Amino acid sequence: MGNSLLPDPKSLHLDNIIATGEIITIIVSAMSPQVACPCCRQHSRRVHSRYTRTLADLPWQGIAVQFRLTARKFFCQNGECARRVFTEPLPLVVRRYGRKTVRLAEALRELAYLVGGEAAARIVRAFGLAVSTDTLLRHLRRTPVFSAPTPRVLGVDDFAFRRGRRYGTILVDLERHCPIDLLPDREPETFAAWLTEHPGVAVISRDRGNAYIEGATKGAPDAVQVADRWHLIKNLGDALERLFTRNHRLLRESARAEQQSRQVEPPGRASHPPPLRQQQHQRARREKRLARFTEVKRLLAEGLSQRAVARRTGLARKTVCRIAQCESLPDIVVPESRRRSRIDRFVPYIKERWKDGYSNATLLHREIVAQGFMGSVNIVQRLVQPWRDKRYGRAGPVPATAPSPRRAAWLLTGGEDARPSEEERAFPKRLLEKCPALVEAQEMALSFTQMLGERNATAFPAWLERASGCHWSELRGFARSLRQDRKAVEAALSLSWSNGQVEGQVNRLKFIKRQMYGRAGFDLLKARVLPLQKAA
Ligand SMILES: [Zn+2]
Repeated sequence: MGNSLLPDPKSLHLDNIIATGEIITIIVSAMSPQVACPCCRQHSRRVHSRYTRTLADLPWQGIAVQFRLTARKFFCQNGECARRVFTEPLPLVVRRYGRKTVRLAEALRELAYLVGGEAAARIVRAFGLAVSTDTLLRHLRRTPVFSAPTPRVLGVDDFAFRRGRRYGTILVDLERHCPIDLLPDREPETFAAWLTEHPGVAVISRDRGNAYIEGATKGAPDAVQVADRWHLIKNLGDALERLFTRNHRLLRESARAEQQSRQVEPPGRASHPPPLRQQQHQRARREKRLARFTEVKRLLAEGLSQRAVARRTGLARKTVCRIAQCESLPDIVVPESRRRSRIDRFVPYIKERWKDGYSNATLLHREIVAQGFMGSVNIVQRLVQPWRDKRYGRAGPVPATAPSPRRAAWLLTGGEDARPSEEERAFPKRLLEKCPALVEAQEMALSFTQMLGERNATAFPAWLERASGCHWSELRGFARSLRQDRKAVEAALSLSWSNGQVEGQVNRLKFIKRQMYGRAGFDLLKARVLPLQKAA
Protein backbone atom coordinates (compact mmCIF):
# COMPACT_ATOMS: atom_id res chain seq x y z
CA MET A 1 0.00 0.00 0.00
CA GLY A 2 1.50 3.26 -1.13
CA ASN A 3 1.41 6.47 0.82
CA SER A 4 -1.86 8.27 0.56
CA LEU A 5 -4.08 10.26 2.83
CA LEU A 6 -6.70 7.53 2.87
CA PRO A 7 -5.77 3.94 3.66
CA ASP A 8 -7.72 2.54 0.71
CA PRO A 9 -8.60 5.35 -1.73
CA LYS A 10 -10.49 2.95 -3.97
CA SER A 11 -13.07 2.06 -1.37
CA LEU A 12 -13.25 5.22 0.73
CA HIS A 13 -14.66 8.59 -0.16
CA LEU A 14 -13.23 11.63 1.61
CA ASP A 15 -16.16 13.70 2.87
CA ASN A 16 -14.52 16.26 5.08
CA ILE A 17 -11.55 17.07 7.27
CA ILE A 18 -12.15 18.82 10.55
CA ALA A 19 -9.10 20.09 12.41
CA THR A 20 -9.23 21.40 15.95
CA GLY A 21 -6.05 22.13 17.93
CA GLU A 22 -5.89 18.67 19.44
CA ILE A 23 -7.28 16.32 16.88
CA ILE A 24 -7.80 15.99 13.17
CA THR A 25 -10.94 14.16 12.20
CA ILE A 26 -11.12 12.76 8.71
CA ILE A 27 -14.65 11.96 7.73
CA VAL A 28 -14.95 9.21 5.15
CA SER A 29 -17.54 6.84 3.85
CA ALA A 30 -17.30 3.51 2.13
CA MET A 31 -18.24 3.86 -1.51
CA SER A 32 -17.90 0.58 -3.40
CA PRO A 33 -21.14 0.21 -5.35
CA GLN A 34 -21.25 -3.52 -4.75
CA VAL A 35 -19.71 -5.78 -2.16
CA ALA A 36 -19.16 -9.52 -2.06
CA CYS A 37 -20.90 -11.53 0.65
CA PRO A 38 -18.23 -13.13 2.86
CA CYS A 39 -20.28 -16.33 2.93
CA CYS A 40 -21.20 -17.06 -0.65
CA ARG A 41 -18.95 -14.55 -2.46
CA GLN A 42 -21.87 -13.26 -4.49
CA HIS A 43 -21.92 -9.50 -5.02
CA SER A 44 -24.72 -7.39 -3.61
CA ARG A 45 -25.79 -3.79 -4.17
CA ARG A 46 -28.61 -3.72 -1.62
CA VAL A 47 -27.62 -1.62 1.36
CA HIS A 48 -29.26 -2.70 4.58
CA SER A 49 -28.03 0.11 6.86
CA ARG A 50 -25.20 2.48 7.65
CA TYR A 51 -23.25 2.90 10.85
CA THR A 52 -20.29 4.96 12.04
CA ARG A 53 -16.98 3.73 13.36
CA THR A 54 -14.19 5.81 14.86
CA LEU A 55 -10.67 4.65 14.14
CA ALA A 56 -7.34 5.98 15.34
CA ASP A 57 -4.87 6.57 12.52
CA LEU A 58 -1.23 7.62 12.22
CA PRO A 59 -0.71 11.03 13.84
CA TRP A 60 0.13 14.07 11.80
CA GLN A 61 2.77 16.47 13.12
CA GLY A 62 2.21 15.33 16.68
CA ILE A 63 -1.52 15.82 16.35
CA ALA A 64 -3.78 12.81 16.79
CA VAL A 65 -5.72 11.76 13.71
CA GLN A 66 -8.96 9.81 13.68
CA PHE A 67 -11.23 8.54 10.97
CA ARG A 68 -14.94 8.83 11.29
CA LEU A 69 -15.96 6.10 8.92
CA THR A 70 -19.43 5.50 7.67
CA ALA A 71 -19.62 1.82 6.77
CA ARG A 72 -22.51 -0.21 5.53
CA LYS A 73 -24.34 -3.45 5.96
CA PHE A 74 -25.65 -5.25 2.90
CA PHE A 75 -28.33 -7.79 2.22
CA CYS A 76 -27.09 -10.96 0.65
CA GLN A 77 -29.20 -11.41 -2.46
CA ASN A 78 -28.39 -15.03 -2.92
CA GLY A 79 -31.45 -16.99 -1.87
CA GLU A 80 -29.36 -20.10 -1.20
CA CYS A 81 -26.99 -18.32 1.21
CA ALA A 82 -27.38 -18.74 4.94
CA ARG A 83 -26.36 -15.16 5.51
CA ARG A 84 -29.08 -12.52 5.35
CA VAL A 85 -27.14 -9.43 6.21
CA PHE A 86 -23.42 -8.87 6.20
CA THR A 87 -21.04 -6.12 7.21
CA GLU A 88 -19.03 -4.62 4.41
CA PRO A 89 -15.43 -5.77 4.87
CA LEU A 90 -12.67 -3.15 4.45
CA PRO A 91 -9.57 -5.31 4.90
CA LEU A 92 -7.13 -2.58 3.89
CA VAL A 93 -8.68 -0.10 6.29
CA VAL A 94 -9.52 -1.85 9.54
CA ARG A 95 -9.78 -5.31 11.05
CA ARG A 96 -13.18 -6.60 12.03
CA TYR A 97 -13.41 -5.28 15.57
CA GLY A 98 -10.38 -3.00 15.37
CA ARG A 99 -10.31 0.51 16.73
CA LYS A 100 -7.14 1.44 14.86
CA THR A 101 -6.55 1.60 11.14
CA VAL A 102 -4.63 -1.35 9.78
CA ARG A 103 -1.74 0.90 8.87
CA LEU A 104 -1.50 2.27 12.41
CA ALA A 105 -1.71 -1.19 13.94
CA GLU A 106 1.01 -2.39 11.57
CA ALA A 107 3.28 0.54 12.38
CA LEU A 108 2.87 -0.10 16.10
CA ARG A 109 3.53 -3.79 15.71
CA GLU A 110 6.65 -3.14 13.68
CA LEU A 111 7.90 -0.58 16.15
CA ALA A 112 7.31 -2.93 19.09
CA TYR A 113 9.11 -5.64 17.16
CA LEU A 114 12.12 -3.49 16.44
CA VAL A 115 12.66 -1.69 19.71
CA GLY A 116 10.46 -3.47 22.26
CA GLY A 117 7.27 -2.39 23.99
CA GLU A 118 8.72 0.09 26.47
CA ALA A 119 10.73 2.04 23.94
CA ALA A 120 7.95 1.90 21.36
CA ALA A 121 5.46 3.38 23.84
CA ARG A 122 7.86 6.24 24.51
CA ILE A 123 8.41 6.87 20.82
CA VAL A 124 4.74 6.93 19.85
CA ARG A 125 3.99 9.22 22.80
CA ALA A 126 6.45 11.70 21.31
CA PHE A 127 4.48 11.51 18.07
CA GLY A 128 1.20 12.30 19.75
CA LEU A 129 -0.24 8.82 20.37
CA ALA A 130 -1.13 7.48 23.77
CA VAL A 131 -0.60 3.75 23.51
CA SER A 132 0.47 1.71 26.51
CA THR A 133 3.33 -0.76 26.54
CA ASP A 134 0.87 -3.57 27.13
CA THR A 135 -1.20 -2.62 24.11
CA LEU A 136 1.91 -2.53 21.96
CA LEU A 137 2.96 -5.93 23.18
CA ARG A 138 -0.51 -7.23 22.50
CA HIS A 139 -0.14 -6.10 18.92
CA LEU A 140 3.16 -7.91 18.74
CA ARG A 141 1.77 -11.10 20.24
CA ARG A 142 -1.05 -11.06 17.73
CA THR A 143 1.53 -11.40 14.97
CA PRO A 144 0.64 -14.35 12.80
CA VAL A 145 2.78 -17.36 13.66
CA PHE A 146 6.01 -17.14 11.76
CA SER A 147 6.26 -19.89 9.23
CA ALA A 148 9.42 -20.39 7.27
CA PRO A 149 10.17 -23.10 4.78
CA THR A 150 11.95 -26.01 6.41
CA PRO A 151 15.66 -25.31 6.11
CA ARG A 152 17.98 -27.66 4.29
CA VAL A 153 20.88 -26.70 6.52
CA LEU A 154 20.00 -26.12 10.15
CA GLY A 155 22.20 -24.61 12.88
CA VAL A 156 21.21 -25.35 16.47
CA ASP A 157 22.49 -23.89 19.70
CA ASP A 158 21.25 -23.12 23.17
CA PHE A 159 20.71 -19.81 24.89
CA ALA A 160 20.03 -18.92 28.50
CA PHE A 161 16.69 -17.56 29.63
CA ARG A 162 18.34 -17.14 32.97
CA ARG A 163 22.04 -17.77 33.07
CA GLY A 164 22.79 -21.17 34.48
CA ARG A 165 19.14 -21.87 35.29
CA ARG A 166 16.92 -22.30 32.28
CA TYR A 167 17.93 -22.74 28.68
CA GLY A 168 16.13 -22.60 25.38
CA THR A 169 17.13 -23.58 21.86
CA ILE A 170 17.48 -21.40 18.81
CA LEU A 171 17.19 -22.84 15.31
CA VAL A 172 18.79 -21.00 12.41
CA ASP A 173 18.49 -21.52 8.68
CA LEU A 174 22.15 -21.43 7.75
CA GLU A 175 21.47 -20.92 4.06
CA ARG A 176 18.96 -18.10 4.46
CA HIS A 177 20.82 -16.65 7.43
CA CYS A 178 17.76 -16.23 9.61
CA PRO A 179 16.38 -17.64 12.83
CA ILE A 180 13.36 -19.82 12.17
CA ASP A 181 12.21 -21.05 15.55
CA LEU A 182 12.80 -21.02 19.27
CA LEU A 183 12.26 -24.04 21.48
CA PRO A 184 11.40 -23.55 25.15
CA ASP A 185 14.15 -25.89 26.42
CA ARG A 186 17.17 -27.84 25.21
CA GLU A 187 15.90 -31.34 25.78
CA PRO A 188 16.68 -33.97 23.14
CA GLU A 189 12.96 -34.87 22.88
CA THR A 190 11.91 -31.31 22.11
CA PHE A 191 14.48 -30.95 19.36
CA ALA A 192 13.64 -34.39 17.98
CA ALA A 193 9.92 -33.53 17.92
CA TRP A 194 10.63 -30.32 15.99
CA LEU A 195 12.67 -32.24 13.43
CA THR A 196 9.91 -34.81 13.05
CA GLU A 197 7.39 -32.03 12.38
CA HIS A 198 9.71 -30.43 9.86
CA PRO A 199 10.98 -33.22 7.67
CA GLY A 200 13.57 -32.41 5.03
CA VAL A 201 16.49 -31.05 7.05
CA ALA A 202 19.59 -32.44 5.37
CA VAL A 203 22.43 -30.99 7.43
CA ILE A 204 22.51 -30.13 11.15
CA SER A 205 25.38 -28.08 12.54
CA ARG A 206 25.61 -28.39 16.34
CA ASP A 207 27.91 -28.23 19.33
CA ARG A 208 29.32 -31.42 20.82
CA GLY A 209 26.88 -31.76 23.69
CA ASN A 210 24.76 -34.88 23.99
CA ALA A 211 21.36 -33.20 23.92
CA TYR A 212 21.49 -32.09 20.30
CA ILE A 213 23.32 -35.21 19.14
CA GLU A 214 20.54 -37.32 20.60
CA GLY A 215 17.76 -35.03 19.38
CA ALA A 216 19.14 -34.88 15.86
CA THR A 217 19.72 -38.62 15.68
CA LYS A 218 16.19 -39.34 16.83
CA GLY A 219 14.35 -36.63 14.90
CA ALA A 220 16.26 -36.63 11.63
CA PRO A 221 18.15 -39.90 11.39
CA ASP A 222 19.06 -39.27 7.75
CA ALA A 223 20.47 -35.79 8.24
CA VAL A 224 24.22 -35.27 8.22
CA GLN A 225 25.38 -33.92 11.57
CA VAL A 226 28.31 -31.51 11.59
CA ALA A 227 30.34 -30.89 14.73
CA ASP A 228 31.07 -27.20 15.08
CA ARG A 229 34.75 -26.55 14.32
CA TRP A 230 35.15 -23.94 17.03
CA HIS A 231 34.05 -26.48 19.61
CA LEU A 232 36.49 -29.05 18.22
CA ILE A 233 39.43 -26.67 18.57
CA LYS A 234 38.27 -25.77 22.03
CA ASN A 235 38.08 -29.43 23.04
CA LEU A 236 41.63 -29.93 21.80
CA GLY A 237 42.84 -26.90 23.76
CA ASP A 238 41.11 -28.21 26.86
CA ALA A 239 42.86 -31.56 26.48
CA LEU A 240 46.28 -29.92 26.24
CA GLU A 241 45.51 -27.66 29.15
CA ARG A 242 44.66 -30.69 31.25
CA LEU A 243 47.91 -32.26 30.15
CA PHE A 244 49.93 -29.29 31.32
CA THR A 245 47.97 -28.92 34.52
CA ARG A 246 48.88 -32.48 35.35
CA ASN A 247 52.51 -31.83 34.39
CA HIS A 248 52.89 -28.36 35.74
CA ARG A 249 56.35 -29.20 37.06
CA LEU A 250 57.59 -29.39 33.46
CA LEU A 251 56.50 -25.83 32.83
CA ARG A 252 58.32 -24.51 35.88
CA GLU A 253 61.50 -26.38 35.07
CA SER A 254 61.51 -25.25 31.45
CA ALA A 255 60.94 -21.66 32.45
CA ARG A 256 63.87 -21.88 34.85
CA ALA A 257 66.11 -23.48 32.23
CA GLU A 258 65.24 -20.77 29.76
CA GLN A 259 66.03 -18.09 32.27
CA GLN A 260 69.35 -19.55 33.26
CA SER A 261 70.37 -19.63 29.65
CA ARG A 262 69.88 -15.91 29.38
CA GLN A 263 72.55 -13.48 30.24
CA VAL A 264 71.25 -11.18 32.87
CA GLU A 265 72.26 -7.56 32.77
CA PRO A 266 73.55 -6.39 36.14
CA PRO A 267 71.14 -3.84 37.45
CA GLY A 268 72.31 -0.26 37.33
CA ARG A 269 70.76 2.84 38.74
CA ALA A 270 70.86 4.78 35.50
CA SER A 271 68.59 2.41 33.64
CA HIS A 272 65.84 2.68 36.28
CA PRO A 273 64.85 -0.98 36.18
CA PRO A 274 61.30 -1.38 37.34
CA PRO A 275 61.10 -3.02 40.73
CA LEU A 276 60.96 -6.77 40.93
CA ARG A 277 57.40 -7.29 41.83
CA GLN A 278 56.32 -4.77 39.28
CA GLN A 279 58.25 -6.62 36.59
CA GLN A 280 56.60 -9.86 37.48
CA HIS A 281 53.28 -8.19 37.59
CA GLN A 282 53.80 -6.61 34.20
CA ARG A 283 54.86 -9.86 32.73
CA ALA A 284 51.85 -11.67 34.10
CA ARG A 285 49.62 -8.98 32.71
CA ARG A 286 51.27 -9.11 29.35
CA GLU A 287 50.81 -12.83 29.27
CA LYS A 288 47.14 -12.43 30.01
CA ARG A 289 46.71 -9.78 27.38
CA LEU A 290 48.58 -11.87 24.88
CA ALA A 291 46.44 -14.93 25.51
CA ARG A 292 43.36 -12.80 25.08
CA PHE A 293 44.72 -11.20 21.94
CA THR A 294 45.58 -14.54 20.39
CA GLU A 295 42.24 -16.07 21.21
CA VAL A 296 40.35 -13.18 19.67
CA LYS A 297 42.51 -13.20 16.53
CA ARG A 298 41.97 -16.88 16.09
CA LEU A 299 38.19 -16.65 16.47
CA LEU A 300 38.07 -13.82 13.98
CA ALA A 301 40.14 -15.89 11.59
CA GLU A 302 37.61 -18.67 12.08
CA GLY A 303 35.10 -16.33 10.53
CA LEU A 304 33.15 -15.29 13.63
CA SER A 305 31.80 -11.77 13.74
CA GLN A 306 33.25 -9.37 16.26
CA ARG A 307 30.01 -9.62 18.18
CA ALA A 308 30.17 -13.37 18.33
CA VAL A 309 33.77 -13.20 19.47
CA ALA A 310 32.83 -10.76 22.21
CA ARG A 311 30.15 -13.15 23.34
CA ARG A 312 32.42 -16.15 23.37
CA THR A 313 35.28 -14.48 25.17
CA GLY A 314 33.22 -12.29 27.46
CA LEU A 315 35.20 -9.26 26.29
CA ALA A 316 33.71 -5.90 25.51
CA ARG A 317 32.81 -5.40 21.88
CA LYS A 318 35.13 -2.36 21.83
CA THR A 319 38.07 -4.46 22.95
CA VAL A 320 37.40 -7.05 20.27
CA CYS A 321 37.17 -4.30 17.67
CA ARG A 322 40.49 -2.81 18.80
CA ILE A 323 42.21 -6.18 18.65
CA ALA A 324 40.76 -6.80 15.19
CA GLN A 325 42.52 -3.66 13.99
CA CYS A 326 45.93 -4.51 15.46
CA GLU A 327 48.46 -6.60 13.60
CA SER A 328 50.21 -7.64 16.76
CA LEU A 329 49.78 -7.12 20.45
CA PRO A 330 50.32 -3.42 21.03
CA ASP A 331 52.68 -2.39 23.83
CA ILE A 332 51.11 -0.55 26.65
CA VAL A 333 52.98 2.57 27.50
CA VAL A 334 53.14 2.54 31.25
CA PRO A 335 53.20 6.08 32.47
CA GLU A 336 56.03 6.88 34.81
CA SER A 337 54.38 6.19 38.08
CA ARG A 338 53.74 9.12 40.28
CA ARG A 339 55.18 7.27 43.20
CA ARG A 340 58.46 6.79 41.48
CA SER A 341 58.70 10.39 40.48
CA ARG A 342 57.97 11.28 44.05
CA ILE A 343 60.89 9.23 45.28
CA ASP A 344 63.14 10.57 42.52
CA ARG A 345 63.64 13.71 44.54
CA PHE A 346 65.21 11.68 47.33
CA VAL A 347 67.31 9.35 45.20
CA PRO A 348 70.52 11.44 45.31
CA TYR A 349 70.25 11.54 49.09
CA ILE A 350 69.65 7.80 49.44
CA LYS A 351 72.49 7.12 47.03
CA GLU A 352 74.88 9.14 49.19
CA ARG A 353 73.77 7.29 52.32
CA TRP A 354 74.11 3.97 50.48
CA LYS A 355 77.72 4.79 49.57
CA ASP A 356 78.35 5.57 53.21
CA GLY A 357 77.23 2.10 54.09
CA TYR A 358 73.66 2.76 55.18
CA SER A 359 71.76 -0.07 53.57
CA ASN A 360 68.77 -0.59 55.83
CA ALA A 361 65.68 0.37 53.81
CA THR A 362 63.55 0.94 56.89
CA LEU A 363 66.02 3.41 58.33
CA LEU A 364 66.48 5.14 54.98
CA HIS A 365 62.73 5.40 54.63
CA ARG A 366 62.46 6.98 58.07
CA GLU A 367 65.10 9.53 57.09
CA ILE A 368 63.44 10.65 53.90
CA VAL A 369 60.01 10.73 55.53
CA ALA A 370 61.51 13.28 57.87
CA GLN A 371 62.41 15.27 54.74
CA GLY A 372 58.88 15.14 53.40
CA PHE A 373 58.62 11.80 51.53
CA MET A 374 55.05 10.52 51.55
CA GLY A 375 55.47 7.02 50.12
CA SER A 376 55.77 3.67 51.85
CA VAL A 377 58.85 1.75 52.88
CA ASN A 378 58.25 -0.68 50.01
CA ILE A 379 59.16 1.96 47.49
CA VAL A 380 62.53 2.44 49.18
CA GLN A 381 63.02 -1.31 49.34
CA ARG A 382 62.33 -1.62 45.64
CA LEU A 383 64.73 1.18 44.89
CA VAL A 384 67.66 -0.34 46.76
CA GLN A 385 67.05 -3.98 45.88
CA PRO A 386 68.99 -3.89 42.59
CA TRP A 387 71.90 -2.15 44.31
CA ARG A 388 71.91 -4.85 46.95
CA ASP A 389 71.77 -7.58 44.29
CA LYS A 390 74.71 -5.97 42.56
CA ARG A 391 76.67 -5.69 45.79
CA TYR A 392 76.23 -9.36 46.56
CA GLY A 393 76.72 -10.40 42.95
CA ARG A 394 73.26 -11.89 42.65
CA ALA A 395 72.15 -12.56 39.12
CA GLY A 396 68.63 -13.03 37.80
CA PRO A 397 66.43 -10.25 39.06
CA VAL A 398 63.29 -12.11 38.11
CA PRO A 399 62.50 -15.55 39.41
CA ALA A 400 61.34 -17.76 36.59
CA THR A 401 57.59 -17.55 36.03
CA ALA A 402 56.11 -20.49 34.24
CA PRO A 403 53.35 -19.86 31.74
CA SER A 404 49.90 -21.09 32.68
CA PRO A 405 48.86 -24.49 31.34
CA ARG A 406 46.55 -22.79 28.86
CA ARG A 407 49.30 -20.48 27.68
CA ALA A 408 51.74 -23.37 27.43
CA ALA A 409 49.26 -25.23 25.24
CA TRP A 410 49.19 -22.17 23.02
CA LEU A 411 52.93 -21.76 22.87
CA LEU A 412 53.40 -25.37 21.97
CA THR A 413 50.84 -25.37 19.19
CA GLY A 414 50.08 -21.79 18.28
CA GLY A 415 53.15 -21.12 16.16
CA GLU A 416 53.21 -17.64 14.68
CA ASP A 417 49.66 -16.91 15.72
CA ALA A 418 50.49 -17.06 19.40
CA ARG A 419 52.71 -13.94 19.09
CA PRO A 420 55.04 -14.98 21.85
CA SER A 421 57.63 -12.73 23.46
CA GLU A 422 61.27 -13.56 22.86
CA GLU A 423 61.48 -15.67 25.98
CA GLU A 424 58.25 -17.39 25.16
CA ARG A 425 59.43 -18.19 21.70
CA ALA A 426 62.32 -20.10 23.22
CA PHE A 427 60.04 -21.77 25.72
CA PRO A 428 58.69 -24.64 23.58
CA LYS A 429 62.25 -25.61 22.73
CA ARG A 430 63.13 -25.85 26.42
CA LEU A 431 59.94 -27.71 27.07
CA LEU A 432 60.71 -30.28 24.41
CA GLU A 433 64.27 -30.64 25.73
CA LYS A 434 62.93 -31.35 29.20
CA CYS A 435 60.36 -33.77 27.92
CA PRO A 436 60.90 -35.11 24.39
CA ALA A 437 57.64 -37.05 24.58
CA LEU A 438 55.83 -33.73 24.21
CA VAL A 439 56.85 -33.65 20.56
CA GLU A 440 54.14 -36.19 19.97
CA ALA A 441 51.49 -34.03 21.63
CA GLN A 442 52.64 -31.04 19.64
CA GLU A 443 52.51 -32.92 16.37
CA MET A 444 49.11 -34.40 17.09
CA ALA A 445 47.66 -31.02 17.95
CA LEU A 446 49.21 -29.25 14.98
CA SER A 447 48.14 -31.87 12.50
CA PHE A 448 44.61 -31.81 13.91
CA THR A 449 44.19 -28.06 13.51
CA GLN A 450 45.78 -28.24 10.10
CA MET A 451 43.41 -30.99 9.04
CA LEU A 452 40.48 -28.92 10.25
CA GLY A 453 41.74 -25.79 8.53
CA GLU A 454 42.29 -27.58 5.24
CA ARG A 455 39.09 -29.65 5.54
CA ASN A 456 41.22 -32.69 4.96
CA ALA A 457 39.00 -35.56 6.00
CA THR A 458 41.16 -38.20 4.34
CA ALA A 459 43.93 -37.71 6.89
CA PHE A 460 41.54 -38.22 9.78
CA PRO A 461 41.50 -42.02 10.13
CA ALA A 462 45.30 -42.17 10.36
CA TRP A 463 45.32 -39.28 12.80
CA LEU A 464 42.70 -40.95 14.95
CA GLU A 465 44.63 -44.19 14.92
CA ARG A 466 47.80 -42.44 16.04
CA ALA A 467 46.11 -40.33 18.68
CA SER A 468 44.42 -43.40 20.15
CA GLY A 469 47.83 -44.94 20.81
CA CYS A 470 49.39 -41.70 21.96
CA HIS A 471 51.61 -41.46 25.04
CA TRP A 472 49.44 -38.75 26.57
CA SER A 473 46.20 -39.84 28.20
CA GLU A 474 44.59 -36.44 27.64
CA LEU A 475 45.01 -36.76 23.88
CA ARG A 476 43.81 -40.34 23.96
CA GLY A 477 40.71 -39.04 25.74
CA PHE A 478 40.23 -36.37 23.08
CA ALA A 479 40.58 -39.00 20.36
CA ARG A 480 38.02 -41.18 22.15
CA SER A 481 35.51 -38.33 22.21
CA LEU A 482 36.06 -37.78 18.48
CA ARG A 483 35.60 -41.44 17.76
CA GLN A 484 32.26 -41.42 19.57
CA ASP A 485 31.15 -38.50 17.40
CA ARG A 486 33.06 -39.65 14.37
CA LYS A 487 30.59 -38.98 11.58
CA ALA A 488 29.97 -35.42 12.72
CA VAL A 489 33.69 -34.77 13.09
CA GLU A 490 34.33 -36.12 9.62
CA ALA A 491 31.57 -33.84 8.34
CA ALA A 492 33.28 -30.90 10.03
CA LEU A 493 36.45 -31.95 8.20
CA SER A 494 34.79 -31.92 4.82
CA LEU A 495 31.83 -29.51 4.89
CA SER A 496 32.01 -25.78 5.24
CA TRP A 497 29.04 -25.38 7.62
CA SER A 498 29.71 -24.12 11.08
CA ASN A 499 27.81 -22.44 13.87
CA GLY A 500 29.41 -19.02 13.45
CA GLN A 501 26.21 -17.29 12.40
CA VAL A 502 24.18 -19.05 15.08
CA GLU A 503 26.39 -17.28 17.59
CA GLY A 504 25.41 -14.01 15.99
CA GLN A 505 21.72 -14.85 16.34
CA VAL A 506 22.15 -15.85 19.97
CA ASN A 507 23.76 -12.48 20.51
CA ARG A 508 20.85 -10.65 19.00
CA LEU A 509 18.48 -12.71 21.11
CA LYS A 510 20.39 -11.80 24.26
CA PHE A 511 20.21 -8.15 23.33
CA ILE A 512 16.45 -8.35 22.84
CA LYS A 513 16.03 -10.24 26.08
CA ARG A 514 17.93 -7.56 28.00
CA GLN A 515 15.83 -4.87 26.35
CA MET A 516 12.63 -6.56 27.47
CA TYR A 517 13.47 -6.34 31.18
CA GLY A 518 11.21 -8.72 33.06
CA ARG A 519 8.69 -9.14 30.29
CA ALA A 520 10.66 -11.63 28.26
CA GLY A 521 8.09 -14.37 28.28
CA PHE A 522 8.76 -17.10 25.77
CA ASP A 523 6.04 -16.10 23.28
CA LEU A 524 7.09 -12.48 23.31
CA LEU A 525 10.76 -13.31 22.98
CA LYS A 526 9.93 -15.54 20.07
CA ALA A 527 7.83 -12.83 18.43
CA ARG A 528 10.78 -10.48 18.53
CA VAL A 529 13.57 -12.89 17.63
CA LEU A 530 11.93 -14.47 14.59
CA PRO A 531 11.55 -12.31 11.49
CA LEU A 532 8.46 -10.09 11.50
CA GLN A 533 5.74 -11.75 9.50
CA LYS A 534 3.87 -9.18 7.42
CA ALA A 535 0.16 -9.16 8.10
CA ALA A 536 -1.79 -10.11 4.99
ZN1 LIG B 1 -24.12 -14.67 0.81
